[in-house]
Amino acid sequence: MSLSGRRRRLSAVTGRIREDDIALVRERARIDEVVASYVTLRNAGGGSEKGLCPFHDEKSPSFHVTPARQVFYCFGCQEGGDVITFLQKIEGLGFAEAVERLADKFGVQLRYAEGSASPPRRETHLRPRLIEAHKVAADYYADRLSSSDASVGRQFLAERGFDKDAAERFGIGFAPRDGDALFKHLRQKGFRDEELVTGGLVAQGGRGHYDRFRGRLLWPIRDSSGGVIGFGARRLFDDDRIDAKYLNTPETPIYKKSQVLYGIDLARRDIARSSQAVVVEGYTDVMACHLSGVPTAVATCGTSFGEDHGRVLRRLLHDHEEFRGEIIFTFDGDDAGQRAAVRAFGGDQQFVGQTYVAIEPDGLDPCDLRLRSGDAAVRELVARRIPLYRFVLGNVVARYDLDRADGRVDAVREAAKLVSSIRDRSKVDAFARELAGMVGVDVEEARAEVRRAAGRPRGDDRGAARGSVDDPRGGTRGPSAETAERSAPLPDLRDPRFTLERETLKLMVQQPQVVGPMAGGIDGEDFTHPTYRGVWDAVSACGGPSAAPDSEVWVSKLRENVSAEPVARALNALAVEPLLSTKEPTAGYVAAHVYRLQELTALRRITEVKSKLQRTNPVDQATEYNRMFGELVALEQHRRDLRERAIGDEA
Ligand SMILES: [Zn+2]
Repeated sequence: MSLSGRRRRLSAVTGRIREDDIALVRERARIDEVVASYVTLRNAGGGSEKGLCPFHDEKSPSFHVTPARQVFYCFGCQEGGDVITFLQKIEGLGFAEAVERLADKFGVQLRYAEGSASPPRRETHLRPRLIEAHKVAADYYADRLSSSDASVGRQFLAERGFDKDAAERFGIGFAPRDGDALFKHLRQKGFRDEELVTGGLVAQGGRGHYDRFRGRLLWPIRDSSGGVIGFGARRLFDDDRIDAKYLNTPETPIYKKSQVLYGIDLARRDIARSSQAVVVEGYTDVMACHLSGVPTAVATCGTSFGEDHGRVLRRLLHDHEEFRGEIIFTFDGDDAGQRAAVRAFGGDQQFVGQTYVAIEPDGLDPCDLRLRSGDAAVRELVARRIPLYRFVLGNVVARYDLDRADGRVDAVREAAKLVSSIRDRSKVDAFARELAGMVGVDVEEARAEVRRAAGRPRGDDRGAARGSVDDPRGGTRGPSAETAERSAPLPDLRDPRFTLERETLKLMVQQPQVVGPMAGGIDGEDFTHPTYRGVWDAVSACGGPSAAPDSEVWVSKLRENVSAEPVARALNALAVEPLLSTKEPTAGYVAAHVYRLQELTALRRITEVKSKLQRTNPVDQATEYNRMFGELVALEQHRRDLRERAIGDEA
């Protein structure tokens, strides 16, 4: 969208901010303070602070801010600049708009060149205008809460344990029932019709403008720095023309529901301080939590918790390298809640070890719990959180009769599939141990079952399609390609399981001439990640690395053979990322990768055949047994050959 471009052009026409004023804004606006609204920063030594980058998704912090030099730079994605650049990028603002916002916040009086002392036309700073309009609207609505019309709303609050003070603390308001009261009020305050429509406060119908929210109880939704960006509205009257119990601000330039968290302005500092965030389901639950002494509660607004919400929280949560904080979900005890938990487990698993659930046995949400049992009960609910994985495993295990031996076997087998799908390999063993305790089997048995599950596609029980092989460089060769495809189209760059595949492909993309002579034995099976497999397929479709023309043409030729988006992105990355070797790759370096890759494939097949052999009776199934034994011998020989070639070429 070229909105920011349009704004920039407009402000160029309507008057420039004077250079010395811009310099003053740069000087006065504290970059660490501005950044802190979005990212929790920790001391990184040497006068720098660091946190999780808001411009790319990361698990450990590479986003650095140096207040003394007023700069930020991310070592992960190379975004960098000064405080103005930061605000522009994170809010999608034009230059002038970012300067104006900072000037406002840090008390710099801006003067405009070309003789004009007044700010440029209003289009140039849409966001502050929309936030201002929301602020005026929020005040107006809050004021109306004491009107006689609003008695149903006040009753609603009272029934849920919220008194006048609570309503004021959260800025709750009431939207009058007549069609355009707010519209008239805002117009009178100097806001223009387009601004109000763009901001979602007012809608336009056949008979003119009317208020979006009518006859409803309103919660102002704020961004992390406290600006009102939207409203959540609860139905109060039976004759409400809109059936939905809750109505929210639609997507606007300042309201993105995939990122908005109700309560974030109140919870932000406590989330950073305690490295804990509590995700509840509704506005009244957020209120109940905060009033009960759980100040880290937030809620999504009219949408389920998604990856963007997770990113917003993780940036605030980040504490230090070892401890990455907790996200606690309160779920209903009912089936829907439990299904949601299982789904969360199957989704973005990167943080599964940090995810907890707090379940109220009677299925009460925090608001009802506070009503029934008081503030302490809400605090206890959160304190009694359990790790998500334990909750999900418990649910799986509960489906089996653990008094029976076959029930235990089935329970372990079913739960092992879940455990093996966890991408954080460091957690797998602990989870396997826990599973063993839960079911009452030997730890080794649970581990073996997890390893077995890791070797085959999830949900596929046709047997060990792929063996699991320990990679001597650390990490177990984990979920099969199919599992990986479902959970992550782009391989995690730091995942050691794929380092070898990645490096070999980098060589093929960047140094095809060096790899060419050795690449003959490689085939698609050598790549366990589907995205890497896709890159190899493109290399293969172009005749393999030995068919490569000079390198500039090579990459574009490969690109032409790629249709899937993740594969195209991976290809670009493989083309620019430096090789792990700092020197020019020698034949030995290439061999170490190419042959090792094939050796791992051989190892996987060996494990697979061995496991089949174990399950085959050498007497009753002699022919089959002997065939597999022969295959195993041949595979072992093949593997030794590969190893010797790797070493031979290295020497
Ligand atoms: Zn970054």
